[in-house]
Amino acid sequence: MNRIGIHGSVWSGRWDGEEGVRAVHRTAEAGYDFLELPLSDPKGIAVENLRHALEKSHVGVTASLGLTAETDISSPDESIVQRGIAHLEEAIGVLRDLGGQDLAGVIFSAMRKYTAPADPRGIAHAKEALRVLAGQAHRAGIRLHLEVVNRYESNVINTGDQAVAFLQDVASPVPLGVHLDTYHMNIEEGIPGRAIERCGGNIGYFHVGESHRGYLGTGTVNWGEIFRALRRIDYRGPIAFESFSSAVVDANLSNTLGVWRNLWSEGENLARHARGFIAAQMEAAARAEVN
Ligand code: MN
Repeated sequence: MNRIGIHGSVWSGRWDGEEGVRAVHRTAEAGYDFLELPLSDPKGIAVENLRHALEKSHVGVTASLGLTAETDISSPDESIVQRGIAHLEEAIGVLRDLGGQDLAGVIFSAMRKYTAPADPRGIAHAKEALRVLAGQAHRAGIRLHLEVVNRYESNVINTGDQAVAFLQDVASPVPLGVHLDTYHMNIEEGIPGRAIERCGGNIGYFHVGESHRGYLGTGTVNWGEIFRALRRIDYRGPIAFESFSSAVVDANLSNTLGVWRNLWSEGENLARHARGFIAAQMEAAARAEVN
């Protein structure tokens, strides 16, 4: 019932040529329903090539990105906010042209370590900008999802409760989703399963990542708790596997996320393992319910 996808960084660090086409084929071969395209650089996407490959392989597409210090819509500086809005509009356009319907990630703040708490004027800017952007996205057939990330990657939203409160303030006439990620929840949430339950129907996108962002099941995330909670709230949205290694370098992403270690070298094997792991966890959660 959930569509299961995989983040593009398992396959490639660039999307301007044949790498994207190969990534689509690998996504299909590893048994995934969709590819989550890293959209930090909307201009660096070979849109026509990619759309053709997606259609031919019957692979769906979503996208995610993190804003930067130059495009931070939570900045008190109006000109930076305007650059961020333009960047997100461009990303919405690319995703629309690819046929995608979900834009997720750190789209409310820069994705970086801040050295001070968020500025209230900046927070107001982000809420105002997202209200407008959600409407634009909606007209393009796209829903925005705000990714709850750990304290070293944003100072705006670090917990599920904060995301729900933030969205209430945005008060958008069209729905935006909360995007949860097990890697970040493992750092910030006391009881990740409870966080999932409290976000409930607000969750629109979900990242499955291990505590060190490597092979699923080799870290400290309590997978039984996560998948049982998703089952309890009857979550039916997209689930994307996310993993990073120094084996695949993305000029925009790797340094921001602190990907210094080689946690795997074979994307194919990692992807197949994760697909099986997710299926097994979902089945176990369903069985736990009837026992
Ligand atoms: Mn994530």
